[in-house]
Amino acid sequence: MRDHHDIVIVGGGVIGLTIARALALRGVRDVCLVERGNLGAEASWAAAGMLLPQVEADAPDDFFDLACRSRDLYPAFAAALREETGIDVELDTTGTIYLALTEHDHEEIEKRYDWQTRAGLSVERLSGAEARKLEPCISESALGALRFPKDIQVENRRLLSALANSVKKLGVTIATQTPVDSLLLDGHRVTGVQASGRPISCATVVIAAGSWSSFIKTAPVPVIEPVRGQMVCLEAKPQLTHHVIYSPRGYIVPRRDGRLLAGSTSERAGFAKCVTAGGIAKILRNALEISPALAELPVLDTWAGLRPRASGDLPVLGPCGEIDGLFFATGHYRNGILLAPLTGELISEAIVSSQR
Ligand SMILES: Cc1cc2nc3c(=O)[nH]c(=O)nc-3n(C[C@H](O)[C@H](O)[C@H](O)COP(=O)(O)OP(=O)(O)OC[C@H]3O[C@@H](n4cnc5c(N)ncnc54)[C@H](O)[C@@H]3O)c2cc1C
Repeated sequence: MRDHHDIVIVGGGVIGLTIARALALRGVRDVCLVERGNLGAEASWAAAGMLLPQVEADAPDDFFDLACRSRDLYPAFAAALREETGIDVELDTTGTIYLALTEHDHEEIEKRYDWQTRAGLSVERLSGAEARKLEPCISESALGALRFPKDIQVENRRLLSALANSVKKLGVTIATQTPVDSLLLDGHRVTGVQASGRPISCATVVIAAGSWSSFIKTAPVPVIEPVRGQMVCLEAKPQLTHHVIYSPRGYIVPRRDGRLLAGSTSERAGFAKCVTAGGIAKILRNALEISPALAELPVLDTWAGLRPRASGDLPVLGPCGEIDGLFFATGHYRNGILLAPLTGELISEAIVSSQR
């Protein structure tokens, strides 16, 4: 790694990688991605890869529009990554079924169906029997369901491999095992970062350090707190479901290779990235509520990751404002995989236009 680059990106998760790629594709030549550990080994690796703006929205708002825009970039994003790297990120467009398993759930899905059909969005209403006809593993207790044909999923670990491969091919400098300690400033202007005890000078820094973003000294990053999510991985060969199946309490996500992910928890546990007995019990209880047939499946693996949450649950995106040359791309909380393609576009556009 040289001691000068035009742009330094701090953090090699899905967000840092996507921004690095987007900058390189816009013709920015000298980008350096600095990662404390290994690329794509934190929240982005732990995620379920669901791209579900419609399933999760109680009402239309600006965030919903952003999330739908990013989801709709995925087919072209996945195709371009395949073209560049040969890696198939397994974008699965089967769609998502949202189950109502209690009377209260049923009232909630009716509200969702009403506002989304009024807004002209794609959503289908199913009886419990119709949902079971589509996916026979669904519990006999399902009272009804919505099917969201446009809410899809991606294999996030393959996505990380494809992005890492792409940025290397595009000539981005990558420094792993290199923690950034602080931002270097000259008054209100960025002049570089201090990384592993030595300075790297640059005119532009992007902070994309996920749950750790607030620890970079002298950078006025809004507080980002970690929210732990645990996951259980089962083996379903042959596949038990083709759709992602979601309930208000949990979800199951089928992967092409026969893994079936069940998630998740949402816990304020600091930076303790461990799997707990209570967490696993809760995930399995909610997954079995969706499909009692899961009870027979072998457990392959468990893991946990830290979702980066900012105030108001909204991502922190764009120029810092107080310090020239400093950009934020953090706080993606539960939606970093979903929001990655649009984040890459928006941040790279903001940087390139600030340099014109
Ligand atoms: C269980 C679980 C399920 C999830 N499911 C989904 C889902 O289905 N769909 C979805 O859209 N999102 C999901 N998410 C959320 C998603 O994973 C995150 O929003 C996303 O991964 C955030 O990406 P990131 O690049 O900001 O953070 P991270 O992937 O955490 O990457 C941040 C990187 O910065 C590095 N770093 C930190 N500090 C420094 C430093 N000082 N110097 C250098 N490098 C540093 C870290 O080592 C890390 O590699 C899930 C999360 C979890 C935990």
